[in-house]
Amino acid sequence: MPITDETEAAAAAGGADLPLLRLKPGEERRLHAGHLWVYSNEIDVVATPLVAFEPGQCARLESSKGRFLGYVYVNPRTLIAARLVSRDAAYPPGRALLVHRLKVALALRERFHSKPFYRLAFGESDLLPGLVVDRYGDVCVVQLGTAGMEAMKTAVLEALERVVAPRAVLWKNDSSARELEGLAIGVETAQGEVPESIEVEEGGVRFTVPLAAGQKTGWFFDQAVNRIAAARHCAGARVLDVFSYVGGFGLQAARAGAREVTCVDASAAALTAASASAAANGLELATLKGEAFAVLESLVEQRRRFDVIVLDPPAFIKRRKDHGKGLAAYRRLNQLALQLLDRDGLLVSCSCSSHLLESELIEAVQRAARHVDRFVQLVEVGGQAPDHPVHPAIPETRYLKALTFRVTPA
Ligand code: SAH
Repeated sequence: MPITDETEAAAAAGGADLPLLRLKPGEERRLHAGHLWVYSNEIDVVATPLVAFEPGQCARLESSKGRFLGYVYVNPRTLIAARLVSRDAAYPPGRALLVHRLKVALALRERFHSKPFYRLAFGESDLLPGLVVDRYGDVCVVQLGTAGMEAMKTAVLEALERVVAPRAVLWKNDSSARELEGLAIGVETAQGEVPESIEVEEGGVRFTVPLAAGQKTGWFFDQAVNRIAAARHCAGARVLDVFSYVGGFGLQAARAGAREVTCVDASAAALTAASASAAANGLELATLKGEAFAVLESLVEQRRRFDVIVLDPPAFIKRRKDHGKGLAAYRRLNQLALQLLDRDGLLVSCSCSSHLLESELIEAVQRAARHVDRFVQLVEVGGQAPDHPVHPAIPETRYLKALTFRVTPA
């Protein structure tokens, strides 16, 4: 191997001991463009057999010509066989690198937030593939989504200690992505005493947010900006918050002076939490527990009318192959909502499917509108909050859409 500055730096940093993973000719192009993933078919498995790697093991990545490209962690079981964690030979994977990355991530959040409640680390977008950290004051909820991050579990905890010194940390390792990685599913305390629920203030409302028992990491920070934006249109309005979870959109609408607010969700626990937060804030709230499509159909039958409807469903397109079916579900859902809107109503239509393009959601709403003889105008376009930054080279990191349509008779 030629002696270069990089190999010397790697040796000094301890990275030179790591096994080698070599790409086939030309396969470094995507990485050069900024991407972090290496697919299994891009690896020269003759020179560096993937089967020799344990899931989560770290490696030095080289081009076919022997050029150092960075450090990766490997999973021979998944289509994405390796993820780049560092391009700097002096920074192999480990605590020092994690501390550095978390500090850079923290600086972004501190620029946008006056209080320590936000997504502190958003995986690939923060150059921390497989790591999600939500911060609730001095409690952190962490998702380790890959075998590589799982293998660095101890270093993650130590790095968090160095950067934000949390009082308690929860591993919220129950995402389906872990199954694909061959990892166990579970929720456990990593450190300290994790409270059952925690208070999050947003838009002047204090929400009680369940942590271990909550959805995903507990609170959907990604919608923060959109919830505040939607509340601006709710004074005096009859508001329907569909897929409400603990009432994020609905309670801020109530606080903004909505005439009536109804939250719809399939989860009784979520609606109980929403009602409790309403009471604690002196706000009125009605809840309807049930499957959203069925609830909307029955509201249509009852000829109920609303002025603002928010649709914030879970991802209907989880994998690319579900695209057709998922798109049809978005169309059907939006059609039901359009039928429930009164004259000059507003529809806030969201999607968190990275496989659904914004243009496809716009088209789905437009088609649904034509179908039920309404005219829609797109008046506001929202996306994920700044604590969920987009990595421009990785389109999947731009996943959230929140489109506000004004709806009038055709
Ligand atoms: N709008 C919320 C987040 C919604 S998360 C906020 O701003 O915080 C999605 C919610 O949809 C979850 O609470 C889940 O319980 C609910 N859900 C999922 N599938 C559903 C269905 N088919 N019918 C009704 N609710 C559903």
